[in-house]
Amino acid sequence: MVTEGIAPTADRTLGFMVPARNARGQLVRLDATLNAILAAHAYPQPLIRLLAEALTLTALVGASMKQDEGQVTLQAQAKGGIVDLLACDWRAGELRGYLKHDPEAIVSEGMSLPDVFGKGYLALTIDQAVSEERWQGIVPLEGDTLAHALEAWFGQSEQLPTLLRIGVSGDAASGWLAGGLLVQHLARAEIGGERLDAGEQHPDWEHVAALAATTTAEELTDAELSGEALLWRLFHEEQVRVVPGPTPVKGCRCSAAHIRDVLMRFPEDQRAEMRDDKGVIAVDCQFCSRVFGIAA
Ligand SMILES: [Zn+2]
Repeated sequence: MVTEGIAPTADRTLGFMVPARNARGQLVRLDATLNAILAAHAYPQPLIRLLAEALTLTALVGASMKQDEGQVTLQAQAKGGIVDLLACDWRAGELRGYLKHDPEAIVSEGMSLPDVFGKGYLALTIDQAVSEERWQGIVPLEGDTLAHALEAWFGQSEQLPTLLRIGVSGDAASGWLAGGLLVQHLARAEIGGERLDAGEQHPDWEHVAALAATTTAEELTDAELSGEALLWRLFHEEQVRVVPGPTPVKGCRCSAAHIRDVLMRFPEDQRAEMRDDKGVIAVDCQFCSRVFGIAA
């Protein structure tokens, strides 16, 4: 495996297959992209970690899509907790995300999902661009981490044995680094694709999952360890095929021209209600924490 020329911390997705075990996976590192997304917000540290975890999960699923132009959306909606909305999406390598939280609430590290969200659900939506098919999975916000919630859901509801590991390290001063690993038994051709039959407790999956489960958060965010080296460490007894995927970048569709286009689809009387006394409609992008003043 060649690792030359790519810094281990660079923003990256790396697909891989373990053909002999009928497993496939994805490794993601988020560095500059993650810091660019987080820079638009001033969340308390535990919520930065939560958003970083959600962004990494979104990138893992996004980079696993067969069609590059599709969109993956991860959204949590909840009531009675500290965070009542969290939204991330991925489209052709463009990643963005934000959350809405109670700024008065006290947050601490290691809070469970019910502590953070109260009651709510997490929805994973995959829109296939070419076929225009939409697939959605919904899981209650229970347990310790978003990764555990999604992992359990894939296994139980979709019969798609899945292992997810996420690491987030750093702080506001030195910058954040996130890494993620997704491994799946190919019970299905792809997420949201055609279902194929597969045994629940297949020995091949048990073997791959046991190896992958040894991955630590420290390894996923080790600035000295490349994705290839980590995969080699995990699966050196197997044959691993590695396919570099799209490079994640911070991306948002908010532009004055795009927002104006959307506003112009509203009837004139509705636009009149939105205008301020200077004739400007203020539209904010929550992903970028930016307000656009549009004359429309
Ligand atoms: Zn935006």
